[in-house]
Amino acid sequence: MPLAIDVLTLFPRMLDGFLAESILGKGIAAGYLGVKVHDLRAWATDKHRTADDRPFGGGAGMVLKPEPVFAAIEQLQTPGCRRIYLTPDGLPLSPAMAQSLARERHLIFLSGHYEGIDQRIRDHVIDQEVSIGDYVLTNGTLAAAVVIDALARFIPGVLGEEKSLTHESFSSKLLDFPQYTRPAEFRGMSVPEVLLSGNHAEIEKWRAARQMEKTRQVRPDLLN
Ligand code: SAM
Repeated sequence: MPLAIDVLTLFPRMLDGFLAESILGKGIAAGYLGVKVHDLRAWATDKHRTADDRPFGGGAGMVLKPEPVFAAIEQLQTPGCRRIYLTPDGLPLSPAMAQSLARERHLIFLSGHYEGIDQRIRDHVIDQEVSIGDYVLTNGTLAAAVVIDALARFIPGVLGEEKSLTHESFSSKLLDFPQYTRPAEFRGMSVPEVLLSGNHAEIEKWRAARQMEKTRQVRPDLLN
């Protein structure tokens, strides 16, 4: 059974291009995963399709109301599915988390907006809270896209060439090595000699050294 994903958002069109293009688009077309994007307003019951309201206790902005979100999740959920809220105060997305989500059968992603969502949603119909980094987006739709993209790479078949997963930033706790392609010389800039040598042992050694150098410079925390 391919992984089924539902995304709940106030801005479903934000994902149109994302789901149709590139490796993810091909993965969906080939049936490795299925993604349905839903407009949360479809579950709002008043004539204005209201999905948010002012926060109790005062303060700026609006908060997603519980009624449409509970109704949407209750309609979409299946036994054993994982219901995920994208939020800057969630657990940070990591390769291990993406890999574990890729093994699930059904995921529901909830995107917040404005000031966030009513806490009762988080307390009662959410299983996991995920952040894509220490910065704040205007809404969680792109965050859902990031998590879907990261997990899809772990679904067998999606990347086509499985070995491309093994040479990747973080796959060995190190950042990736630099890549070059033709031409070997461009505007006086040459590709490192070793990559043209055909000596695979030397190439591996050079790549490992560049990975270590880059990681030490940019992400020394990964070496601890
Ligand atoms: N008041 C919230 C806070 O400070 O934690 C921020 C709300 S943010 C403006 C609106 C929505 O964007 C959130 O409900 C969440 O769904 C999404 N969002 C923003 N930053 C995110 C991040 N780093 N990771 C995941 N989702 C994020």
